[in-house]
Amino acid sequence: KEIDARGGLVMPGFVSSHAHPVDAMLRGGIEVDRNLFDWFYNIYYGGLAAFTPEDCNMSIRLAMAEGIRGGITTFQDTWGINTGDDAARVDACAEASIEAYRSVGMRCIFSWMFNDRIPAAWDEYLKSIARKIPALKLDPATIVEDTDSVLARMEALMRRHHGSDGDRIHACPAPCLPNTCTEEALVGSLELAREFDTLVTIHVNEQMTDARMFSELWQISATEWMHNMGFLDPRVVAAHCVWLSDKDIRLFRMHDVKVAHNPTSNHFLGSGAAPIDKMVMAGITVGLGTDDVNLHSNVSIFSEMRRAALLQKVVRHDAGVITAEKVLEMATIDGARVLGLESEIGSLEVGKKADIIVLDTDAPHWFPRHHLPSVLVFQAHDEDVRTVLIDGRVVMEDRALHFLAGDEEQAFLARVQKATDRIVEDAGLQSARDRG
Ligand code: FE
Repeated sequence: KEIDARGGLVMPGFVSSHAHPVDAMLRGGIEVDRNLFDWFYNIYYGGLAAFTPEDCNMSIRLAMAEGIRGGITTFQDTWGINTGDDAARVDACAEASIEAYRSVGMRCIFSWMFNDRIPAAWDEYLKSIARKIPALKLDPATIVEDTDSVLARMEALMRRHHGSDGDRIHACPAPCLPNTCTEEALVGSLELAREFDTLVTIHVNEQMTDARMFSELWQISATEWMHNMGFLDPRVVAAHCVWLSDKDIRLFRMHDVKVAHNPTSNHFLGSGAAPIDKMVMAGITVGLGTDDVNLHSNVSIFSEMRRAALLQKVVRHDAGVITAEKVLEMATIDGARVLGLESEIGSLEVGKKADIIVLDTDAPHWFPRHHLPSVLVFQAHDEDVRTVLIDGRVVMEDRALHFLAGDEEQAFLARVQKATDRIVEDAGLQSARDRG
């Protein structure tokens, strides 16, 4: 097949090195203005408690439709829904979610997120958070899984799916947070990652609160705790890392830990500015992530690139602290390095897989132009992406999505709205209108 890209810009597809597309259907004005743990309990797990396998599939397809329209060709999906005692439901939801990636043709690292402890010292704090939405039907016990059971089921899922669909689908473990995972969970996850030659991902010090809650309880930083148990490793992808000390950064560098930076989510939750400039200077590989769809409100690497650049300038009071070239690398080749896929994707080179996007460059915001990385980071939009190929297969051509062809896209979006209306009702969620 020949694609006429004359007058356009041909470049590697974008990599979202940390994302949670499954709860895309929980955005739209129920997720706003909440701090991390409020959102985590009252929106993420509270809302997902009402998801069926079909809802998971639909939500991910919604996020993929948007992501492909903005040129994203790889997602690292840190996927997790409440288990409680209903492991069969979670397994069915995982299968339906992976099926969504297959049907779209997306390249996906499906990372199974879980928690195997909630510190007893958090009881009062969590009770006060639960009171914010009295109608919410969340049983906090459903968030915690048995360590052995979750590791066994994760291994079974990895056996079924890792390397499947022409190697477009990978699977790996994702212990959620040092606060909510035991040493056994972390070490067991790393062992699985080694066995399957894949990565293991974890959220680290996303907010000052979660960093402080860890160090107050265990009298050590989460990073040192992971270092001491032997968890830090080149396979580890640490998401967020907003509140890292210089020593934490040194330990990450020592073990070649990779970092997924999610600046829009960090804005949305008021998390702060990750010291990306220090990490890059230390030689740590940093990719960009779109994080949770409802902590971004969009699925857009263009938005991440711009915010990554602007946020560093604001907090360092230095317009030259990070360059457009570096930010563009984070969105492409460095994102691929974070996921261990740099020999396959992230740049246009002979022998690499054809994850390629074509951008229109004739709109007013593309002029004038003297330095394309600067234009891409500061001027370009999602809507400029015209055609998208993943693994040599066309998934969008001239803005038409192949998996939602013709009238199907509008019909699909109507079904999404219907499903989310039902979920808000069933879960007892609250519109921003009623938040007080
Ligand atoms: Fe996340």
